[in-house]
Amino acid sequence: MKNRTLLNKAFVDIIDRARGIHPSKFRITRARVAAFAVTLIAVGLALGGRQEAPPAENTTTTAELTQSLDIALPSREPAPAARAEVEALVAKAEEEDAVATALNTWEEVAVGNGQTLDGIFREQGYSIPLLHQILALNGDTKRLTKIRPGDVFGFQRDADGGLARMRYPIDEDAYLLVDIGEDGPRADRLARQLNHEVQEAEGTIESSLFLAGKAAGLSDNMVMKLAEIFGWDIDFILDIRAGDRFFMVYEKVYRDGEYLRDGDILAATFVNQGERFEAVRYVEDGDSEYYTPEGRPMRKAFLRAPLNFSYISSNFNPKRFHPILKRVKAHNGIDYRAPTGTPVYAAGAGKVVRSDYNRFNGHHVFIQHSGSIVTKYLHFTKRAVNNGQRVKQGQVIGYVGSTGMSQAPHLHYEFLVNGVHRNPRTVPLPKAEPLDEQQLIAFQAQAAPYLNQLSRLESASMYAHRGGDAEMVSGE
Ligand SMILES: [Zn+2]
Repeated sequence: MKNRTLLNKAFVDIIDRARGIHPSKFRITRARVAAFAVTLIAVGLALGGRQEAPPAENTTTTAELTQSLDIALPSREPAPAARAEVEALVAKAEEEDAVATALNTWEEVAVGNGQTLDGIFREQGYSIPLLHQILALNGDTKRLTKIRPGDVFGFQRDADGGLARMRYPIDEDAYLLVDIGEDGPRADRLARQLNHEVQEAEGTIESSLFLAGKAAGLSDNMVMKLAEIFGWDIDFILDIRAGDRFFMVYEKVYRDGEYLRDGDILAATFVNQGERFEAVRYVEDGDSEYYTPEGRPMRKAFLRAPLNFSYISSNFNPKRFHPILKRVKAHNGIDYRAPTGTPVYAAGAGKVVRSDYNRFNGHHVFIQHSGSIVTKYLHFTKRAVNNGQRVKQGQVIGYVGSTGMSQAPHLHYEFLVNGVHRNPRTVPLPKAEPLDEQQLIAFQAQAAPYLNQLSRLESASMYAHRGGDAEMVSGE
């Protein structure tokens, strides 16, 4: 390591000086190194030059120091002049350290609500004409006229208390740095180091997916990402059960060594009621999509559940509460109990063939899709689309309510193929086209390491759970 070499050099150097040998000019840059070396000298002197290693504070350097000592141990006490020289060197290094520290210390000022940089300059007692000079420098500094509350400016003062340097987080990955030089201000961008670290997580659902996610160290946002990936195959509102499991390999983003935000899921497995689903991310031309390990898109022509599960499942406990309402008569659809106002999505792309109100269905919307498929959505509190309108998959078409023949806020959802009611949670949907051969090669190269890591994680977990863990899911 660089530090260790430096330490050795410093030590040998000081000892040489103590013996009156003056080697080439050498600057000690770290006061700590010097102080440590002086401690060792003192110990070495106390030992009277015996050919033994001093009891070093840092054991990892002992061996190398022993070597140095073998070569360069002082045979007699250094002259008092040499000792003074060492002390002066240490003092100088400490002073340099202090200067370096000051240069890296920023006086931080958070932008208040409605506050402008002008206001901050006045508050700090900085020159307003200087501010105008800064703003006129370039496009980046011009953006300082629109600063966001909560952003943090860093300031450094000169000897007279004026502004010497200023920094502002202009982007997620860059600082705008303004230096006030002899000939006025100068602006630069300073890249901030973003690191993507690969992490692993696994969990077993006991009461809710969110709680299982939390127990696995995942944010709610990450749990949502997981549900989004598998939401094409799994109805996260109705079909999640205690004992369901997940495994994932994902990224965390660090900036300047500090945790910044969640990154993307790279690969994940979800075991739902014994059925296993696996997905891996594939980035092509900057777009990322999730695929099965065989290269079929996870994305399907229809959503399994046409509403956002986070509105419903955050407190969902399958042991206590079942979201399906009691059925009083023959029933052609699925009822999702959900809070009034929960957005409802078009399950697939299509055309609105009815957007209307009557006393049975309340506010309702019917959508015609390709392949003679029609989806129906009843009891909205409010509709968000008009008759004849084209809709995209996932587009909000209305909001959960309890209009018409309804006893509680819920969405009644029907799925018809050629006019026949089918169960939208189990109806076989057309399979998406796999990647073509060329893409498949690139996909496999990208996916393999993540799929391997995922499978190692799963095997390790299976191994750990072997031996009668009640929570283990057999997979069959
Ligand atoms: Zn119903």
